[in-house]
Amino acid sequence: MTTNESSQTMKMLPGDEIRQIMWRYSDRYDIQMAVMGARSVARGLVARLVANGERNTHEWTEAKNDLYLAFDQAGITAAGLDMEFGGIIEGPRLLALSLLAFELAWVDGGAATTSLINNLALGPIVEKGTPEQREKYMRACLPVAPGEDRKVWRGAFALTEPLPYVGVDTGVLSGRVTVAEWKEGQEPMLQVEKRGRFLTNMAVANFVTAAVDSADPRIKSSCMVILEDTDEGLFDRGAPTLKMVHQLSNTQDPIFNLKVPANRIVGGYTVKDGVIVPNLTHSEIIEAVFARTRVTVGLMTAAKLLSAIEPVIRYQRGRFRGAAGIEAGSPRYDLGLQMKEDALQRLADVWATGEAAAALGFEATRLFDQFASVEQSAQKIFAERGIGGRALMKALRKPQADAVELLGLLKQPEASRDNARIEALKADPLVQYVWQSAIGNILCPACKLWDTGNGANMLREAVSLMGGYGITEDCPGFLFQKWTDSQLEATYEGPEVVQRRQISVTMNNEVFLAQVELWMAELNALAAVKPETGAAAISAGLGLWLWMRAFIESAKDANGRPLSQNTRHGVLFPMADAVSWLLAARSLLADVQELAVKGPEHPVVGSEIEGYVNTYTDLCHVQAARSAGEVGRICAELFYGYVVSADQTGEARAAFQKLHAALDESLVGSRLAKDRVAKALSTVMIPEALDYPQ
Ligand SMILES: Cc1cc2nc3c(=O)[nH]c(=O)nc-3n(C[C@H](O)[C@H](O)[C@H](O)COP(=O)(O)OP(=O)(O)OC[C@H]3O[C@@H](n4cnc5c(N)ncnc54)[C@H](O)[C@@H]3O)c2cc1C
Repeated sequence: MTTNESSQTMKMLPGDEIRQIMWRYSDRYDIQMAVMGARSVARGLVARLVANGERNTHEWTEAKNDLYLAFDQAGITAAGLDMEFGGIIEGPRLLALSLLAFELAWVDGGAATTSLINNLALGPIVEKGTPEQREKYMRACLPVAPGEDRKVWRGAFALTEPLPYVGVDTGVLSGRVTVAEWKEGQEPMLQVEKRGRFLTNMAVANFVTAAVDSADPRIKSSCMVILEDTDEGLFDRGAPTLKMVHQLSNTQDPIFNLKVPANRIVGGYTVKDGVIVPNLTHSEIIEAVFARTRVTVGLMTAAKLLSAIEPVIRYQRGRFRGAAGIEAGSPRYDLGLQMKEDALQRLADVWATGEAAAALGFEATRLFDQFASVEQSAQKIFAERGIGGRALMKALRKPQADAVELLGLLKQPEASRDNARIEALKADPLVQYVWQSAIGNILCPACKLWDTGNGANMLREAVSLMGGYGITEDCPGFLFQKWTDSQLEATYEGPEVVQRRQISVTMNNEVFLAQVELWMAELNALAAVKPETGAAAISAGLGLWLWMRAFIESAKDANGRPLSQNTRHGVLFPMADAVSWLLAARSLLADVQELAVKGPEHPVVGSEIEGYVNTYTDLCHVQAARSAGEVGRICAELFYGYVVSADQTGEARAAFQKLHAALDESLVGSRLAKDRVAKALSTVMIPEALDYPQ
């Protein structure tokens, strides 16, 4: 094994070319242009607003309101629309929208949210709306063309209600819909009563997609309805939320009591025996929407972590310059705080976290973009075969088994496996459907959970590296605001508990478990040829996690209570955390492997690629070891923590200890890798000043 000691390190922090390779959009000119547009707004208007102290109030000022126009002019608003309604991104667009949010969050998370919420409001309509709804509201949100005289609509999304109603648990809606009028042969008119708590964009929204339950026997179920600010009745925007974060977004507690036609029910309805039957309940719609939008929120925190690296380097290096007796060229002048190992290594941890968070998020966005057509094909098949409801579960049993078989075959050596069978299984749209959804159902909550929750903790580390400056308004890179903002990113669209709850269910899907085994096989193969990547640590972590998950299924605590009960958050939630750590490290490794393969042939960065790949490989190793260590700790606590004597663990103890010992050993070389990342951080070139106003 090499120690990589004398090899080149990264000379400059990664620019667009490197990112495009890692996040796989080198060939997407449309996305690249949109990213440039978002960057110009972020580092222009958004940075000026923050630097001018606009974040010091929760009031929605005129200066903040300029954000909407800037988003329109830069193409950010149009990126959320279908091409036929004036959009600019061809095909599925989660990757594109996430990159735009990433750019905005690089400077300010609130500004990113202001743009995102319009997409969240449109989300139910885009994902599940009728063709008429999709056309009407996407066209209404389209920015005006030069010379056109029209108001651009903004949207809000209304799920959360005043206490004691909807928050984490979205089932107990107090928002109500009843039939207001229903004249023979005409569209029924509905009365919608909904109060909202903490609704973003409410200062300006022209339409609101609101979740309500039926309070009328003539309406079958809950649904989402679209409300407009000119509808008959009360459209009270409510008081601003006195929030201390995301001040470049507006949040209010509105009250609605409006009469609207039934064709505002998102996804439409049918009438059966005199009863309005919404085609979709509110839960079905929010599930479809959040499955995608939560990834973007995770990526916002990732952006902030990565944005912290350059300001911290600059602060550390310049710390002692100008002091009497500190000569240019001396280590104290050139390196400043970077002479100290701890300052560099802590920064390495922040960096590795940011990279892994971004890698996990962008992998999830690519998966969901790919999944869009797979989902469509599957839904077509279900419709043709008349499969729905409970029958769906039954119909998916065979594709589930086929997907497990496929993953088992893919694990075997390429030369000896049954390739004809593999191709046949891969070509089955239902196999693709269960396969991709099994992964997506973990990657999305893992990204939201790990990127925002763990990201918030690591942003605190970044703030601490700035010393006293870190906790002032003047902190370069706005790190204090980025840290506190990340707590909101961890909260809205479902706090960490919601994500842990989802993972604790979806992690038991046999297709996902087969995928974990395939990942382990791939990681072991990589570790054999490139041990310096840390692949062995991720694989060992996954191995211990898999074993532990199976163990939990039948284990009981010292009081005879099963560990696998779904109410045992103390067991299942740490398992959700553990797998999220590993998935993030695995995604980073996959991106670095992509860079190693595609980078050398790149016309611009090809000649510098060795340094990038080396430092990134070391970062991977650092993150892999950190993640495996976390999994080791979690599993040991769960294994020994529920018995009163280690002897009570019985025969399982030897198996656990063997896997744990293997995991410990898989950390070899990881601290050497961290030393090299630290060295790279002390030599990497950065510009004289940040490229946005402070
Ligand atoms: C600035 C801001 C903007 C927002 N924008 C919007 C918006 O545009 N639209 C919208 O609809 N909502 C919005 N929200 C609301 C946000 O989504 C909710 O605050 C969030 O989902 C949590 O709900 P809650 O605050 O009621 O927390 P609660 O439901 O009270 O939960 C609080 C905590 O209790 C614990 N907990 C709760 N339930 C459980 C459980 N079942 N098991 C275990 N632990 C549990 C968890 O630790 C949880 O974090 C916004 C919020 C803020 C602060």
